[in-house]
Amino acid sequence: MNYNKKTVKDIDVKGKKVLLRCDFNVPQDKETGEITSDKRIVAALPTIRYLLDQGAAVIACSHLGKPKGEWKKSLTLAPVAKRLSELLGREVIFAADVIGEDAKAKAKALGGGEIMLLENLRFHIEEEKNDPAFAKELASMAEVYVSDAFGTVHRAHASTEGVSHYLPAVSGFLVAKELEVMGKALDDPKRPFVAVLGGAKVSDKINVINNLLEKADTVIIGGGMAYTFSKAQGGEIGTSLLEADKLDYALEMIEKAKKNGVKLLLPVDTVCAKEFSADAEPVTFEAGHIPADMMGLDIGPKTVKLFCDATRGAGTIVWNGPMGVFEFPKFAVGTEAMAKALAESGAVTIIGGGDSAAAAEQLGFADKITHISTGGGASLEFLEGKELPGVACLLDK
Ligand code: AMP
Repeated sequence: MNYNKKTVKDIDVKGKKVLLRCDFNVPQDKETGEITSDKRIVAALPTIRYLLDQGAAVIACSHLGKPKGEWKKSLTLAPVAKRLSELLGREVIFAADVIGEDAKAKAKALGGGEIMLLENLRFHIEEEKNDPAFAKELASMAEVYVSDAFGTVHRAHASTEGVSHYLPAVSGFLVAKELEVMGKALDDPKRPFVAVLGGAKVSDKINVINNLLEKADTVIIGGGMAYTFSKAQGGEIGTSLLEADKLDYALEMIEKAKKNGVKLLLPVDTVCAKEFSADAEPVTFEAGHIPADMMGLDIGPKTVKLFCDATRGAGTIVWNGPMGVFEFPKFAVGTEAMAKALAESGAVTIIGGGDSAAAAEQLGFADKITHISTGGGASLEFLEGKELPGVACLLDK
């Protein structure tokens, strides 16, 4: 997969109509519809400002929620247009449709240095189906396509891939940064390269583990995933999370690590409890010696030391998935220690979206991390080494 893609800086956008795919999929209050975090809108500002400063006419578009092809008033992008306008300090023209008369007329009249926002792309079922006719209509309003919604680049949708068949396609600053940092980590990492994987399920991360065992020097496995590895090696895991159909896979991965000369670290002790509850009493056991009525909810103190020591001196650390049930403060110790170890490591540190990003933010370490990916699913597929359709379709440098 080639991550060396043209960006907005490599193409002339002056006076051009630019279709800009943003990620304005913001969280909203269920009752009032109010935007509860405008982080994603704020994140889009550098690319938008750059394009406007260059004299481009910006036709922004995004999806919001899952309307599945139906017009749903609760999922209109109108509140996003309003918030974007406040943040930019200028008018954001809002189109009442996506490829309809209103959008087309407003796009036609849009001048250089002006911005408009189309209505929710997923009000059309054709968007997620990557329907070529829909993509062509969308593209017909513009002369250049800019992809800046990393959270959807792993999907071949009309606005993420389809339009690239009709317009020269480049990345915005957000996507460019994701490609630069994560692409480099996978292709040419500063070594030693340490991968830290956690979270609930082995099955979600099978391909990530597999791919990273070919790239990393050390792979650390914590979280609920680790019990399947422990069981596969004959350990007693009590009532801990287990994916019984992944036992052979776990053994295969242990073998693969040996064969490739990758250090594979698994927990040596575990903080357990009788029930899955924030109030449960934590008790620590050696890994593989968990009593029948106990479940593992966090890595133990010896494991914290083992894992944190393994990150010391690393050139690159990629982390995906918490070390335990960090939502319960009593069982957040391992995840917290890992976030701190990353923050203090001096390595290029990358957090691959989702729960570990939330953990780093919740624990106050986010600003000490080199890069926190904005796309959960997309960053996982990135780490799997899969070709991302919304990236592959961009022009090569
Ligand atoms: P994932 O989405 O696969 O990254 O998984 C994240 C979830 O894994 C979080 O909600 C954690 O609470 C959960 N998790 C991590 N460790 C454990 C564990 N030992 N037992 C149960 N759930 C866990």
